[in-house]
Amino acid sequence: MSARGVRWDLHELYDGPADPAIDRDLRAARVSAAAFVTTWRGRLAAMTASDLRRALGEYEQLQELAQRPGFYAALLTAADTQDSVALALEQRTAEAHTELRAQLVFFELELLALDDATTHTLVTDDVLAPYVHFLTQLRRFKPHVLSEPEERALARKDLSGRTAFVQLYDELAGSLHFRIGDDELTEGEVLALLHHPDRERRRQALTALLEPYAEERLPLTAILNALLLDHRVDCEMRGHADVTHPTHLANEIAPEVVATMMDAVERHTPGIQRFLRLKAKLLGLPRLGIADVYAPLDAASPRVPWSEGRAIVLEAFARFDPQLATLAAELLERAHVDAEVRPRKRSGAFCAALGPSQAPYVLSSYTETGRDVATLAHELGHAVHYSLARGQTFLHYEPPLVLAETASVFAEMLVTDHLLATTTDPNARRRLLVETLDEMYGTVFRQHALTRFEMAAHAARRAHRLDHDELCDLWMAEQARLLGDSVEIDPVYRTGWSYIPHFIHSRFYCYSYAFGELLTLALFQRYKDEGAAFVPAYLELLKAGGSVAPGELATRLGFDLTSAAFWDRGCAAITRMVDELERS
Ligand SMILES: [Zn+2]
Repeated sequence: MSARGVRWDLHELYDGPADPAIDRDLRAARVSAAAFVTTWRGRLAAMTASDLRRALGEYEQLQELAQRPGFYAALLTAADTQDSVALALEQRTAEAHTELRAQLVFFELELLALDDATTHTLVTDDVLAPYVHFLTQLRRFKPHVLSEPEERALARKDLSGRTAFVQLYDELAGSLHFRIGDDELTEGEVLALLHHPDRERRRQALTALLEPYAEERLPLTAILNALLLDHRVDCEMRGHADVTHPTHLANEIAPEVVATMMDAVERHTPGIQRFLRLKAKLLGLPRLGIADVYAPLDAASPRVPWSEGRAIVLEAFARFDPQLATLAAELLERAHVDAEVRPRKRSGAFCAALGPSQAPYVLSSYTETGRDVATLAHELGHAVHYSLARGQTFLHYEPPLVLAETASVFAEMLVTDHLLATTTDPNARRRLLVETLDEMYGTVFRQHALTRFEMAAHAARRAHRLDHDELCDLWMAEQARLLGDSVEIDPVYRTGWSYIPHFIHSRFYCYSYAFGELLTLALFQRYKDEGAAFVPAYLELLKAGGSVAPGELATRLGFDLTSAAFWDRGCAAITRMVDELERS
């Protein structure tokens, strides 16, 4: 049985795009926002701690209510990217939400305007204990915030600026046709073919993926240029020293920590190149091409039907802790997972969460490969993280990005560990090692190269508008640095940057993958060393949601994120796997 029919049921949110409750919620949010403004505006400077606590409570409720219709619309369009009713709803809810955000902008600004002494008195009052992290983290943005009318104007102009470009990218990418011969495929299907055992098929897939993007070079180049410029101008207006700093600030990570991590990845790049050369040998090729990087070791890699994949993930979770498995099983049973392969569905996979009042949703396209099992584990890892964090309030619910990928990657490692423990066949073990290293390559080293490309594009855009060829050259330079001579880089890959949605949707997101993976390797090593004794500490980490900074959480576990040795240890775990594969 395949994943056919495994669709999510969104009725917990609304009965359909025409459900009158959507407009009711939008209206209620508008009314509450107006009341919030009347009650609190201009009053924050003279507030007691109890007043502030009440205001924060109302603020959270309002946010969650206001985001509900847009959250629903986003899930509808992900399930069908060409659904015009859903797209219209998404547009309408986005506009309503932007208006509302503009109205509420005063709140955080007035909080920021408080002097340091007043803020200190407030945050040290026990009454505000549940909000301390939010208040202190907010404070870090103080030097980068503009006046209220400026913030308001920027928020409104974003709709026809940044937001419009992002939307154009999504619509353009969603409208592309991917063809191999007479067959028309979805982007997800084409990407899946990069893992096909037949080399010719993989090469066709790579071309089929990139050609439609290359044909749209004009709008894609314009979109990226506009977003690079928009972000730089935004950073300049807000006094950020560097275009990466807002991301680091939001991630609650010091820039030096990210630099230390990236240096460690650079140092270990020869190790992953050794893996790629080894992989070529195992595949019987003189050298890998770009289309071979994710090739399976043999054509025999077994199909994993949905029911089996689902069972593997739940067993792996249960081996670690029954609670983990129960939470994941609950989401599957309550139809919060959409795993069916369908045309027009958003490619890739994600886990979406609205807030602590609502269980999260998972989308993936399950094509019955081992990789799909890993993806399912990954997204359910996110979902379990969100489920455990439901004890936090809205403002402390969402983990910072660098921790957001921790639970997901840990979940993948649980599955690999479970499979290695139950597999004795040397071929199957070798296959598992290669699949794991494929994943590490993709998550740590490739994402590192993507981050470096994004940095390079920003640096170059500082001087002038980049034409298509310049973007392609920057992309190829980073690919060469990543792969050395271990992979022959096909010229068709020049436009590879243009299909990466992260550059459009969430700038500098990519380093979070590497960060999360390496941090998780350290956590996993601890689990291997300490066994069940480690489980409570790990669950506490997840339950903390966004209530504690990542550095502080790491310190609680005895890790020092500022030390090069910490990151080297994570990278060395990968190199050890390459050694093991070499010996096998
Ligand atoms: Zn993820």
